[in-house]
Amino acid sequence: MKSIFVVFFVYLFLTFNVLAQQSLSPEAIFAIKREAFSHSQIESLAFYLTDLAGPRLAGSKLAERAEILVKERLDEMGFSNVRIEFAAEFAQGGWDNFKTYAAMTAPYYANFAALPKAWTGSTNGMVAGEVILLNINTEADFERYRGTLADKIVLLPDFSRYVMQFTPLASRYTDEQLQELAIDPRSQPSSARNRPSLTFSFFGWRLPQPISDFLAEEKPAVIISSGGEFNVPETTSVSHKYGQSEPIAELVLPIEEHGRMSRLMFNNVTVEMEVEIKNEFYDNMVINNVIAEIPGTDSRLRNETVLIGAHWDSWHGGTGAADNAAGCIVMIEAMRIIKATGIQPRRTIRLALWGGEELGLLGSRGYLQNNLYDTNTRTPKTGYQQFALYLNMDNGSGKFRGIYLEENDMAFPFFREWIKPLETLSFGVLSPRKTDRTDHVTFDRIGLPAFQFIQDELEYMRSYHTVMDTYERLIISDLRYNAAIVAALALSAAMDNDKIPPKPLLEGVPAKRR
Ligand SMILES: [Zn+2]
Repeated sequence: MKSIFVVFFVYLFLTFNVLAQQSLSPEAIFAIKREAFSHSQIESLAFYLTDLAGPRLAGSKLAERAEILVKERLDEMGFSNVRIEFAAEFAQGGWDNFKTYAAMTAPYYANFAALPKAWTGSTNGMVAGEVILLNINTEADFERYRGTLADKIVLLPDFSRYVMQFTPLASRYTDEQLQELAIDPRSQPSSARNRPSLTFSFFGWRLPQPISDFLAEEKPAVIISSGGEFNVPETTSVSHKYGQSEPIAELVLPIEEHGRMSRLMFNNVTVEMEVEIKNEFYDNMVINNVIAEIPGTDSRLRNETVLIGAHWDSWHGGTGAADNAAGCIVMIEAMRIIKATGIQPRRTIRLALWGGEELGLLGSRGYLQNNLYDTNTRTPKTGYQQFALYLNMDNGSGKFRGIYLEENDMAFPFFREWIKPLETLSFGVLSPRKTDRTDHVTFDRIGLPAFQFIQDELEYMRSYHTVMDTYERLIISDLRYNAAIVAALALSAAMDNDKIPPKPLLEGVPAKRR
């Protein structure tokens, strides 16, 4: 009796393991490759989501326009439940730039590439006159300027020094670098741990409070600071709540143009400028996500969701091509590929184009709060149990070389199986590393399986958050490849008998393989 029971149990165990973590059939892989590489719509999507959609700063009228445009495109593509969905309140409200002009007019004329800081105010038409360099180092320095700055053009000093770079502009991972990414950082000395592959440098320099209080009292016409290099102004913002008085107009000049004027002034040459900025504030107080689905067909699994996504908002300079129309293009194309194969996914595959990522992952956090997990009461909602996977893309236009599995050991057996038929595409490295600063973090934080890819960096950091981030930064062939990978992985997750479990809490850790 006992032995029969054991045999029966072993049989069950084996069956379960054989059924779980299945890779796609060769026919499915063939269909995905045919759609991705012979019928690609990446190029047309790239035009539509960058040149046509334009900049998409959270809350702006342009972002609202872009939401409608992308929803129309998703409707045309025949997906189900296409909708613009409320994610979160947005006290900052909307802001759009309608005019920016900045030039030096003395000692000679030079026009400048310049960009206003988001959520700063307008100048009163064209302002012209001498530029005042505000060099405040001590408390006493305030007195030198007090009562002299009203309606003036004020230039803040810049303490950054340009350092010439001898590294190539764009790069791809070497095999050696990829091998290193496959090693578990938890086994390494702590300095090497948790270091994401991309080195993000955030500027967003905010004025020390006494100086910004002083300037708010003095009311200059415009405040000019520096950010960005190669004559490309960087995009930054100030924090503001809709309904508060408009912040003073602020302009960002690249370090070269800012530096030229500063050096002239430090050498006692009078510098004059003309500046005109026109911005509008707007009572759009919500962040939305754009959602589309391919419904699941298995009566047992169709309420479970394989989520794929990317953030749709951008900064106001450029058209947010590499950050992050690229991610949206790939995810939409992956949905198209899956639909075109005609394979009926067992689980529902849901596309989410997140709003407000650049201002703190607002769209994905709103989705989590509304569907998956109440962060106030720390209680999972129905969607938590139904969450099968999230795949995110937000590191530029570069080719996928593998995936970061966020120290989620439970995910490895699944991905090992799912990537088997992708061998001829040379995908890829399963890295145990954790990465941060984009929307997968929203889900990973509460233990849900949410991942992003190892991507060739290309020239991402050069154009990152600048007016240079336009269509030209996209590599169509890399995006085409990425869409094939997302389609295959999302479909694998949608067809698998099992789903990746959430990261276990300390209690209740199963000792055997599930
Ligand atoms: Zn981004």
